[in-house]
Amino acid sequence: MATETAFRVEDKLFQNRYLVDAGRAHIKVRPHTTPSAALRTLLTTCPARCYELNDKGQVEITADGCVECGTCRIIGEPTGDIEWNYPRGGYGVLFKFG
Ligand code: SF4
Repeated sequence: MATETAFRVEDKLFQNRYLVDAGRAHIKVRPHTTPSAALRTLLTTCPARCYELNDKGQVEITADGCVECGTCRIIGEPTGDIEWNYPRGGYGVLFKFG
């Protein structure tokens, strides 16, 4: 008899490790007063929940934990809302498979 094991994405992501490149965030949010529709979308589409609203209602990113999936790049870079680069070699997400 087969058994199913349910897992949550958050539990899997927790197994990855992240090497922070202090002071050199690889994703930057363009300064804004009121977030655009694209920026607001990032609050719910980033699988690592890197985007948050600050107390002024502006979208901020904490790139620690970014899995480099590129979702925000597709949504926010064409509109100019974010600047996206890969982390420098040796920094960023360290995937643990399995
Ligand atoms: S690349 Fe993916 S994980 Fe990283 S901040 Fe963008 S949406 Fe989130």
